[in-house]
Amino acid sequence: MHLKSLTLKGFKSFASATTLRFEPGITCVVGPNGSGKSNVVDAIAWVLGEQGAKALRGGKMEDVIFAGTTGRAPLGRAEVTLTIDNSDGALPIEYSEVSITRRMFRSGEGEYEINGDRCRLLDVQELLSDSGIGREMHVLVGQGKLDSYLHARPEDRRAFIEEAAGVLKHRKRKEKALRKLEAMEVNLNRLTDLTAELR
Ligand code: ATP
Repeated sequence: MHLKSLTLKGFKSFASATTLRFEPGITCVVGPNGSGKSNVVDAIAWVLGEQGAKALRGGKMEDVIFAGTTGRAPLGRAEVTLTIDNSDGALPIEYSEVSITRRMFRSGEGEYEINGDRCRLLDVQELLSDSGIGREMHVLVGQGKLDSYLHARPEDRRAFIEEAAGVLKHRKRKEKALRKLEAMEVNLNRLTDLTAELR
């Protein structure tokens, strides 16, 4: 599995549609200060479902939409598509190529697509959860992030490893199932009380 391409349209400084193609192996993005290198990394985090504006170096999520320059008016929406080569079947989907799209409008509305079909953020997260590209994005190490990993408390470091190993998904599913069981228990008790009252 490797990232094949990334298309940005109206995302941060990328007003016009721009596609970066990646080959297997190492890719370097070079450019002068402020030319948008980090915006490319932000776009990868964003399309994979990043929900925190701060993680994307903004004050609010709307800041990812092209805000305009002296020569160009602001845009109404941002769109990013990440295409992943899945010929090794690493992602649990019957396609050798998987495109994930995220779109956001100035109204605050957003949408996701997997291979052109509308879906929920949860579907994107589920699709990626065993690949190590999880919700917490430990695969993207930003400036200064490495330090925080090295100095993390053992419990936090364990959470990073669990996320990367795909254990977190099962832990979350277990928690959800336990919550459902609890709710069921409450309903059952209530039913028992009602039955007793009716007798
Ligand atoms: P450095 O080498 O200094 O780290 P960089 O190449 O990583 O720089 P970025 O931080 O990716 O640069 O890009 C910063 C540029 O993106 C700034 O010029 C900023 O004005 C522009 N930018 C960020 N958000 C938006 C937006 N919503 N609309 C328009 N331009 C934006």
